[in-house]
Amino acid sequence: MVQTLTNEQLTDLAAQYSTPLYVYNADVIKHQYEKLTGAFSGQNCRFFYACKALTNLHILRYVKQLGAGIDCSSINEVHLALKADFLPQNILYTSNGIDFAEIETAVTLGVNVNIDSLSNLDKFGHKYGANYPIGLRLRPNILAGGNLKISTGHDKSKFGIPVDQLQPLLEIINRHNLQVRGLHIHTGSEIKDVGVFTEGIDVLLNLVHHFKHLAFIDLGGGFKVPYKPGDGETDMDLLAKTVSISFAQYAAATGKQFEIWFEPGKYLVSASGYFLAKVNVLKPTAAAHFVSLNTGFNHLIRPMFYDSYHHIKNISNPLGPMHDYAVVGNICETDTFAWERPLNEVRENDLLVFFNAGAYGYEMSSNFNSRYKPAEVMVNEGAPKLIRRRQNFDDLLTEICLD
Ligand SMILES: *Cc1c(COP(=O)(O)O)cnc(C)c1O
Repeated sequence: MVQTLTNEQLTDLAAQYSTPLYVYNADVIKHQYEKLTGAFSGQNCRFFYACKALTNLHILRYVKQLGAGIDCSSINEVHLALKADFLPQNILYTSNGIDFAEIETAVTLGVNVNIDSLSNLDKFGHKYGANYPIGLRLRPNILAGGNLKISTGHDKSKFGIPVDQLQPLLEIINRHNLQVRGLHIHTGSEIKDVGVFTEGIDVLLNLVHHFKHLAFIDLGGGFKVPYKPGDGETDMDLLAKTVSISFAQYAAATGKQFEIWFEPGKYLVSASGYFLAKVNVLKPTAAAHFVSLNTGFNHLIRPMFYDSYHHIKNISNPLGPMHDYAVVGNICETDTFAWERPLNEVRENDLLVFFNAGAYGYEMSSNFNSRYKPAEVMVNEGAPKLIRRRQNFDDLLTEICLD
């Protein structure tokens, strides 16, 4: 079993680096990666870390040395991946409504590209024709994921080329003699039900015969991780078995075999992350007992943005009696992290820890209210290292055009 960070370790880190603070336990990332690759061992799979979840260069380097490839959502993420020494062939740029110029840059850099619109595909055909193989991001018209805001494969989603536009798609491919090497879907985040992946595989396998040059099927990411105590997660062994059976049946019927690609984001980094904040002010009221932290949605926006649940613990008073609190930020907007949340009795200056803060935590942070972004620390086999310093006042001015 992987060692979780203890209250003492987290308290020491808060004392050393101050709060608010993001802490990532690298051992958990390794554990998750091994769980994933272990489940799929013996299958012809490749895993590309969907790095938008957490892009700190040190994390990218760590994930690289584990053996993963990397999936990028912008050309800057591609540049970061190269900076972290990923080889171009291990970098995937899954585009989404981007300027064609970014696709041209990706081609120049020699990375894999998944194209997500007929418009960019046509431009691609004009410029490169058969000279550069590509993947297609398709929209399977499947509703999946934790909630509508994090669902990406349904029939009202902006993501991917809708499978109902197969005819114009094939027309563009044939006209330019495009070398389609892969079909990609990413149906959403927090998909617990393995059946959703099976449905996606079925949609893709039904389309395969239209494409002559296919080498991989990319099933995206979106594996569910437990956020609440008692929450389930995607059953990786079951998923691996299901995937294996689907593709084996297809191979038996057609003689065709594919590499299977995955793009796990949250699954690799969510549980590795802790977000530490200090209690500034207690405010008992008739409606709620407010706990105001020295942070807000400028540092962790998931609860406000898509109603995410983060488990919270008061590590300064772990044996105190339980009471219900409204845990809020210090931002001049309503930024409620949790309502009626049972916590060990909270006192001013106590340290609260948010769990599962590794994915889409720091990455979605901002300078709203002109506050600094937090620092990030990575703990590797028990040894902490500052991997991003806290911002300071000069940082707020660096982009300003001063006279
Ligand atoms: C965000 C994203 C992922 C990862 O999603 P998770 O829910 O973090 O696993 C994978 N693929 C693509 C194309 C994405 O945009």
